[in-house]
Amino acid sequence: MIRVLVWNEFHHEKTKEEVKAIYPNGIHNAIADFLRCDDIEVKTATLDDENCGISKEILDETDVLIWWGHMAHNKVPDEVASLVRDAVHSGMGAIFLHSAHHSKPFKKLMGTPCSLTWRESGDSELVWVTDPSHPITQGIDYAISLPHEETYGEPFSIPNPDKVLFIGSYSGGEAFRSGCLFQRGNGQIFYFQPGHETFPTYYIPEVQTVIRNAVRFVAPRYRAEIKCPHVHHFGHPEGYVRVKKA
Ligand code: ZN
Repeated sequence: MIRVLVWNEFHHEKTKEEVKAIYPNGIHNAIADFLRCDDIEVKTATLDDENCGISKEILDETDVLIWWGHMAHNKVPDEVASLVRDAVHSGMGAIFLHSAHHSKPFKKLMGTPCSLTWRESGDSELVWVTDPSHPITQGIDYAISLPHEETYGEPFSIPNPDKVLFIGSYSGGEAFRSGCLFQRGNGQIFYFQPGHETFPTYYIPEVQTVIRNAVRFVAPRYRAEIKCPHVHHFGHPEGYVRVKKA
C-alpha cells in the first residue's frame, strides 16, 4: 500500500461560496476520493488541525504528501515546513499542486522565490505532454484540455527541474512549465500546475490520472535519513576495495 497524506489549507472552501459549491467537502477530500484504490490509502490534514496535522511521526508514516495552499501560506509555521523538507530529504515523495508553488515547504525545497506571472480571466489551457514515455504521463494523449484555468506564465523562478513533463499553453498566449520533477536528497518531488479553486479541475479524469500516476512515481523506493558517516576502507585479498562503517 502507498500511504498518501493530502494536505489542504481549506480556507477558500469555508469563506467563498463559489468555491464551496465546487468542493463542498474541501479540495483535500475531492483528491482523496479519486485517489483511494486497492494500492493507495489516503488520509487528510488541514491548516486548522493541531500543528497543521503534521508531525515527524505522521510524516514517518506517509509515503507521499500532497500539498494544496494559497491564501494562508504564511500561517504554516516554519517548523512544519522544515519537517516536510526533512522528510523529503529522507525519501518521502511530495506533490505540490497549483498555488502550492508559493508554499513554505516547496520554497524551502527549491531554495528560490518560486514566483510566476498570473492572470485570472478564465482562459482555456492545453497541458502538453513533453515525454510520452514517462510513468507520470501514461494514459494522457498529446495534451489535457482544460476549459478554464487560472493563467500561470513564465518566468517561473524555480531551479532547473530534473525533468519537465508538461508545458501549459493558454488561450491568452502564455506558456508555463506545468509539470516539473525534482529530486531533493532521497525524495522525489512533482509540481503540477492545474487546480485553481474556482474551477472544477480536480474532477477532470486526465488531471486525476496524472496525480495518481505521480503518487505511484514519487512513492519512495528507498528511505533513510541522510547522514555524513565516517567510513574505513581496506584492501580485499581479491584485489577490490571494501568500505565499512567506522
Ligand atoms: Zn489559483
